[in-house]
Amino acid sequence: MISVIVPCYNEEEVINQTHHRLVRVLEQITPSFEVIYVDDGSQDQTSELLRHLQRDDKRVKVVLLSRNFGHQMAVTAGLDYISGDAVVLIDADLQDPPEVIPDMIEQWRKGYDVAYGVRTDRPGETAFKLWTAKAFYRLINHLSDVAIPLDTGDFRLMDRRVVEALKHMPERDRFLRGMVSWVGFRQIPVPYQRAQRFAGVSKYPLWKMFRFAMDGILSFSLVPLRMAIWAGLLTFGLSLAGIIYALILRLFTSIWVPGWTLLFMATLFIGGIQLVFLGVIGEYVGRIYREDKRRPLYLVREHLGFDTEHYNQKLNRSIIPIAKVN
Ligand code: UDP
Ligand code: MG
Repeated sequence: MISVIVPCYNEEEVINQTHHRLVRVLEQITPSFEVIYVDDGSQDQTSELLRHLQRDDKRVKVVLLSRNFGHQMAVTAGLDYISGDAVVLIDADLQDPPEVIPDMIEQWRKGYDVAYGVRTDRPGETAFKLWTAKAFYRLINHLSDVAIPLDTGDFRLMDRRVVEALKHMPERDRFLRGMVSWVGFRQIPVPYQRAQRFAGVSKYPLWKMFRFAMDGILSFSLVPLRMAIWAGLLTFGLSLAGIIYALILRLFTSIWVPGWTLLFMATLFIGGIQLVFLGVIGEYVGRIYREDKRRPLYLVREHLGFDTEHYNQKLNRSIIPIAKVN
């Protein structure tokens, strides 16, 4: 049994097309599959379209979140609902071609636990997005202790046991592709050409991409914190040299260092560095605070197509509308 998770946020223009292409591919591979659409609080007709899909096709299951929780949470929610032995994560906009899924399944049948899609080509993206994405993947690999494969998105197949491992990672700042690298097991890349968005617009404007990049780096690396030590040592060294120099002049010569400029510059310099690292510490503290509140990761408004038994084995990190169960 194969489960496919499709996070959808305002995807009314593509959802039907996506479904048809997905089903066409899946039907050729296996008779038993399910497609779980997670509606991430769309404001357009997405949820209505999903209802229709589910009514006509019992292999479709739908989880409706109570509001927009973001791509990574939508996928997380989907993972809690799968009943397959393997799961495929795929975007709703057909940028990840469903036709690659058979390759991933083949790797899985060979014994790999994770088959992750690696983008060889990304037509239709702006040069800016390509460049920032490239820089980001290299930076995060440099900073973090886990090797996160380059140019890899969330398009991937994972074995059930990888999913079970992920469920034991309750963190709020979710950077799934990094978390999957962290759990280990046998992983293999599957190259593919990333297509253009079929219709609609990207839901990742620049600031969201920036936050996402920050999440990735801060959740997988303590290097920004450690940099404070190096910056501190550097300024300490510089000022020590300055002090010794000034003292020597004062004691042994008649030309003293005129203090104003130096004093002013040193104060600004140290002050600046302190503020920067106060900010860095603040980011981590903020994350600890958010983590500590232990709120559920997402809230479900409604789900369609799951049997009752499924509700009972739900994880406690999501809240199900209990009243709807019976
Ligand atoms: N998405 C989501 N919640 C969000 C933003 C995006 O579920 O808050 C979904 C979206 O519907 C799509 C996938 O995540 O299926 C990737 O989003 P998008 O294609 O907009 O990102 P891009 O490919 O431009 O990075
Ligand atoms: Mg996209």
